[in-house]
Amino acid sequence: MALVVQKYGGSSVGSPDRLMAVARRLIAAKERGDRVVAVVSAMGDVTDELLAKARAISADPPEREMDMLLATGEQVTIALLAMAIDTLGYQAISLTGAQAGIVSDAVHTKARIQEIRASRMMEALDSGRIVIVAGFQGLTSDGEITTLGRGGSDTTAVAVAAGLGADVCEIYTDVDGVFTADPRVESSARKIDAISYEEMLEMAATGARVLQLRSVEFARNHGVVIHVRSSFNDREGTIVKEADETMEQAIISGVTHDTSEAKVTVRDVPDRPGVAAEVFGRLADANVNVDMIIQNVSEAGTTDISFTTPKDDLVRATKAVREVVEDLGAREWSVDESIAKVSLVGAGMKTHPGVAALMFRSLADAGVNLDMISTSAIRISCVIAADQVDIAVRTLHKAFGLEERSVVAETSPAAPGR
Ligand code: ADP
Ligand code: ASP
Ligand code: MG
Repeated sequence: MALVVQKYGGSSVGSPDRLMAVARRLIAAKERGDRVVAVVSAMGDVTDELLAKARAISADPPEREMDMLLATGEQVTIALLAMAIDTLGYQAISLTGAQAGIVSDAVHTKARIQEIRASRMMEALDSGRIVIVAGFQGLTSDGEITTLGRGGSDTTAVAVAAGLGADVCEIYTDVDGVFTADPRVESSARKIDAISYEEMLEMAATGARVLQLRSVEFARNHGVVIHVRSSFNDREGTIVKEADETMEQAIISGVTHDTSEAKVTVRDVPDRPGVAAEVFGRLADANVNVDMIIQNVSEAGTTDISFTTPKDDLVRATKAVREVVEDLGAREWSVDESIAKVSLVGAGMKTHPGVAALMFRSLADAGVNLDMISTSAIRISCVIAADQVDIAVRTLHKAFGLEERSVVAETSPAAPGR
């Protein structure tokens, strides 16, 4: 008898019909003899609607209250899904994050799961029920409700799978798996059959929102194998696991893009030791995530610092920057919200030169200007204008031959290193 965790995202539970379809899938697993836990998201666009309601009241709502609000979305789904299973003649129980024993830290709106106290879920499974857990939410040791950041139900599912020692962790979504690019932007994107944690981490970190970054970190740290697949058909999806020799040895796994960040530039900062530490220390104190950082060549004792940050953190980021600009005597600062980041991810980059050269050449030929560049061992990211993001994704997908099973860098122009 296997223990199966199945997570269903917003569009998979977006209507009463969809909820009934999910109920039938869970019952089918139960009928096969498995012990079944479902983790579910808020229905359709409910989380976005709740966010819009909060913003209509306040530009910077207290984060504790934000969590109180956002956690309601998932609570609707768990109750309705338990009712759906009941009408089909099977036994289920819905549990909030708190009831399911999901203990998190106290960082409201981006809390991290610290522990799964699995006893209540285990008891319910032992009594023969299908257990339905609200994704995206946890409880601090002080009894406060938290949420885990956008896409956080993925992380709930992986953590629950780890905590229960599940045999299978399936993430059901509205596409067939992880693709070589967002299939909504590049229609010839190809489904990847299996991908390593290492590559999936970079794809998730750079905008492939099909899995939340933290869910992949959690899976890697606890050895949870994830199967990403569609809730609309029965096709095999994408397996995310430790790299092994059965995986396709592609040089480039995929092209990702992200339009959720903004760029902040501080001009004419005094160029002396400790200034960058001061700027980024203040941002860290304000709980602002910083992604790319560029400091230009210093002229006449001053320098410009640019960084990118999630638009969600922008209110706090600009408050911190305003203060630091005054304290340091910098000349001015500005925010650009119309940027995008396009990235190439692939483990083969480590050993194949010429990837960066081909990336920059292809983007230049398509008329895409590069504003910032950053790299890791298996990723190259460029910040570009937001209105060029679709053309950039399609250009790179084609340039690296990702629609076919090809190994393009073997024939790409060689360049010394990256
Ligand atoms: P869910 O509500 O099921 O959690 P999400 O909207 O969070 O679904 O994630 C699925 C979406 O991720 C897809 O609809 C797709 O547009 C997007 N996506 C972006 N990049 C990729 C990629 N490389 N592979 C698959 N999907 C991707
Ligand atoms: N409902 C939350 C969101 O929209 C969590 C999730 O769907 O994973 O981000
Ligand atoms: Mg999601």
